[in-house]
Amino acid sequence: MPTLVSHPEEVKIVSSRFGKGATDIERYLELDGYQAARTAVEKGADWIITEMKASGLRGRGGAGFPTGMKWSFVPKQSEKPKYVLVNGDESEPGTCKDHLIFLHDPHTVIEGTIIAGLAIGAKMGFIYLRGEYRYLLTIMEKAIADAYAKGFLGKGIFGSQVNFDIVSHTGAGAYEVGEESALMESLEGKRGIPRIKPPFPAVVGLYGGPTVINNAETIATVPHVLRMGGEAYAKIGSERNGGTRLFCLSGHIERPGVYELPMGYNLKKMIYEIGGGIRGGRQLKAVVPGGSSTPVLLPNEIDIGMDFDQVGKAGSMLGSGGVVVLDETVCMVEFALRTIKFYQHESCGWCIPCREGTDWLKKTLTRFHAGAGVAKDIDNIRYLAENMLGRTFCPLGDAAAMPTIAFVKKFRQEFEDHLNGKPCAYAKQTIQEPVLV
Ligand code: SF4
Repeated sequence: MPTLVSHPEEVKIVSSRFGKGATDIERYLELDGYQAARTAVEKGADWIITEMKASGLRGRGGAGFPTGMKWSFVPKQSEKPKYVLVNGDESEPGTCKDHLIFLHDPHTVIEGTIIAGLAIGAKMGFIYLRGEYRYLLTIMEKAIADAYAKGFLGKGIFGSQVNFDIVSHTGAGAYEVGEESALMESLEGKRGIPRIKPPFPAVVGLYGGPTVINNAETIATVPHVLRMGGEAYAKIGSERNGGTRLFCLSGHIERPGVYELPMGYNLKKMIYEIGGGIRGGRQLKAVVPGGSSTPVLLPNEIDIGMDFDQVGKAGSMLGSGGVVVLDETVCMVEFALRTIKFYQHESCGWCIPCREGTDWLKKTLTRFHAGAGVAKDIDNIRYLAENMLGRTFCPLGDAAAMPTIAFVKKFRQEFEDHLNGKPCAYAKQTIQEPVLV
């Protein structure tokens, strides 16, 4: 069971019920639970979408698309049933926030799903947990059963004429199904590979019906937005980036953990004040700001606000909120190799630039890191990654290419230091591969 962390600068909204026994429906109700869904049933879809647009809430999965706008794209009339799909396939290395939501506050996910359903006129929602979170399914299923027993799900929810059902489901453990169309394929019982877009899920989604797909943190934020009011929520964050988000601080840091901070919170302050600085008083070498797919930042690039726009301006991405801190002992060639090994393993193999590109990057970086590299490998690694960018069916190809390009660009000297059979200067200090017995 992960230990919960806390810091006085946190603004606890999504995490406000963590550690308070809110998996129990009676306790959740004591903590203002299901109030927002009850109000949403009374006030209807237009009110919900207006509040969501005013909140400035942007998708917490990584893409940062405005939630209210996304919901408004779903056609009002549809011959096919509409669906809400909650993406709980949290698999990006460095990210462990949705897990805490399911663990401590499953009813808020249910409540957010009901509200999303009301907003788009859906009668059915699915909550999809990553395969490795199978142990959370028991918590989720109990919460769903309790919500049915109270009349918050099923026929005539909250005593109204509205029907809404929820089913939870787990994957089989594949990073790729975090991509929305692959998620739908997986949920339909097929192999989890992406669909060609357009058509987009808002028009042709799950089982061919219009579908809204939101990250679990986004959905868990929705009831809070409606309770607080969209404008009040927006004011907490920065310009065009409403509210708070859960940041996962990990790596060589004194106080790792998941912290809820306003959007736009300064990254340097987050590392040195919230996280207590670099472990063991060592020097900072680099920061991965938003999960393993986001380009690395140098120490002189971290005096920035953590929102989608400001991190984008700094040449990286806010991504899934996974902030990975690397100290001076890290070999960046090894780190690049570890990153690409992950993407090569998770590539579904459907398109050539990703399937072949990640494989060649892994082979080249493995040889290079072992001391058998030649000078032209450095440019070849970058050239290969640059030629994957934007040429794949889904974002996994970009997710592998973008950090690789940044590693070579920002740590070229370290790559050159590995040439001519020189042993890696950091090899003894870096984390060793786990030995499987
Ligand atoms: Fe599959 Fe990679 Fe192509 Fe995505 S980019 S469809 S993961 S091969």
